[in-house]
Amino acid sequence: MTTLTGIGPNLGRLIERVAGKLIVDLLWHLPTGLIDRSDAPPVAEIEDGAIVTLKLTVERHEPGMGRRPYRVICYDGTGFITLIYFNVKSDYLERLLPVGAERIVSGKVEFYVGIPQIAHPDHVVAVDQADRIKPIEPTYPLTAGLPPRVLQRAVASAVECAPALPEWIDGPLRRQRGWPSWQDAIAAVHAPQGSADLSPSTPARERLAYDEIFASQLAVALVRARRQRRRGRKLEGSGELAQKIETGFGFALTQSQRLAVAEIAGDMKAPHQMMRLLQGDVGSGKTVVALLAMLIAVESGAQAALMAPTEVLARQHHATLSRLAAPAGIEVALLTGRERGKPREALIAGIAAGTLPIVVGTHALLTTDVVFRDLALAVIDEQHRFGVEQRLALSEKGKATDTLLMSATPIPRTLMMTVYGDLDTSRLVEKPPGRQKIDTRAMPLERSGEIVEAVARAVSRGAKAYWICPMVEESETADLAAAEERYRTLAAMPAFGGRVGLVHGRMKSADKDRAMADFAGAGSDLLVATTVIEVGIDVAAATIMVIEHAERFGLSQLHQLRGRIGRGNEASTCLLLYQSPLGAIAHERLSILRETEDGFRIAEEDLRLRGGGEVLGTRQSGLPALRLADLAAHEPLIAVAHDDARLVLTRDPKLDSERGAALRTLLYLFQRDEAVQYIRAG
Ligand code: ADP
Ligand code: MG
Repeated sequence: MTTLTGIGPNLGRLIERVAGKLIVDLLWHLPTGLIDRSDAPPVAEIEDGAIVTLKLTVERHEPGMGRRPYRVICYDGTGFITLIYFNVKSDYLERLLPVGAERIVSGKVEFYVGIPQIAHPDHVVAVDQADRIKPIEPTYPLTAGLPPRVLQRAVASAVECAPALPEWIDGPLRRQRGWPSWQDAIAAVHAPQGSADLSPSTPARERLAYDEIFASQLAVALVRARRQRRRGRKLEGSGELAQKIETGFGFALTQSQRLAVAEIAGDMKAPHQMMRLLQGDVGSGKTVVALLAMLIAVESGAQAALMAPTEVLARQHHATLSRLAAPAGIEVALLTGRERGKPREALIAGIAAGTLPIVVGTHALLTTDVVFRDLALAVIDEQHRFGVEQRLALSEKGKATDTLLMSATPIPRTLMMTVYGDLDTSRLVEKPPGRQKIDTRAMPLERSGEIVEAVARAVSRGAKAYWICPMVEESETADLAAAEERYRTLAAMPAFGGRVGLVHGRMKSADKDRAMADFAGAGSDLLVATTVIEVGIDVAAATIMVIEHAERFGLSQLHQLRGRIGRGNEASTCLLLYQSPLGAIAHERLSILRETEDGFRIAEEDLRLRGGGEVLGTRQSGLPALRLADLAAHEPLIAVAHDDARLVLTRDPKLDSERGAALRTLLYLFQRDEAVQYIRAG
């Protein structure tokens, strides 16, 4: 960023916050509005509130005094106009607007006791530099502290540097759609001539949206092509172990679970390598499905591994799976960063010898000295929290290993198609029976005193509660302070008898585990947490959740958080505390949450409410951000890109042709180049 002229480290950081780290991020920071500066009336005919561009002669300066601003009186032959400056040094203004000089001045006019004024004009330039003021000026989404002009200049200089790139879009398609070249498209989107040019359906915006979708489809197609080149193995379980443990469950599988297990079994039996995504809300019973899949591998005499993104989740899975698998006499091993020395050596030996059929762990499983005798199934929980490479690294520990990805983040179908192509998917759409609807209410923050008392009363009757503190994007430190502050206040209240815990992202994992274990056990009743607490955490006794500043969270994120209660058979309550006044969208978000607990519906609504312009790739969902494509407007392009990506790879599987080279550039541009390595790794 700082390689652009005039951008120092401080501004660079601000620009990165709003646009991104790379120069292309600036190019893709599209204008959302424009200012028309073409109005150039004589001063005598000027109207209040107009944005004008005037050619003025500087008459005199009137330096400010006390609270009086600095004034520069100008004249254009028809009348006088005053330029107003607060807190600006006089020597700077004397240089900018020397008495007697002619200047082009652009800004918004306001009348004050009958005299037109422009406070802090947007532009002041010498007459021979008039072309530096564009008649139509794009405006960009900003962040606090970043002056609009700085961002405009940064974008403009990035646009100037944007090179001509070889064309990666199919020629006939481009002609048929009337799309400009990449370089022309970039120039065009940053030089709107009217509000129609801000529409997602202009050829330039459409082309860039297609680039983004196409890059994504191509990356997905590359991975898929590679997978299909590899033969799978036919795994057919006997059903013997599955039967033993199913009777031990004490519950019947839901319809969706049955279907998912059947789909997985079908893939495992087929001669290709399985790559299937199992989606389902927290608590929908994915772990049970994963276990039944792992048993198919075990029944076939092979091994299965489950990798979770954190220590806490790995331990929780280990506990659950051990319990569930016990009736079949199957030992479930646990390998995380905390297993060291002798015990670890024993584990590694067992894994290598095949005496440990099922292993659960964190990315510690990926260490090179972990060698399986015969790994037939790799299960990746919370798959989006791992990089593509890590996901593959586990499967690579076996031969033709089948992969089951799991995710508690329901993804809307259009987005699914854009980001993952036609990845095989199983969805758990219903909750296990016996769950009650969570009573969800929204209340203004001012009532938090009352709410603390209500929570205290519930806790004294034996309930357990989460208290979630807000996440402020810009400042992790401020978050932490808010959570710690809340923790101190609550912990000091006699009503809670000191039985209050705290978890946040900056804690050591051992401390986090301890706080979680206390809460899951008998140690604490109230857990204050930032949103970092793990999605899959299972404390069935927790029946209350308070979310502070609920208006700051996305819909899906609130849904995820809420999913941590209502897991047992008790009635649960979720209180969404908001800061008033509540904006229209925030209001709608909270109403949808009150209405439904269906994660798939919530995900669709979330997509609709966020609209196209906003970044969908929240850290929570782990989806890559779509910055150029607006799924509402560009959805039809997905199918086109999908077909084209496949066709390209049939003709030129290694991207060796001229167009292939251009396609590599496309993948690099969108940082999907990790896909390129699959061509070689094939
Ligand atoms: P997920 O991993 O999707 O969040 P889990 O697999 O951990 O969900 O399941 C949540 C809880 O529901 C577990 O305690 C599990 O034993 C239980 N459970 C799973 N399937 C069923 C079912 N069909 N009927 C009743 N309870 C179930
Ligand atoms: Mg789970």
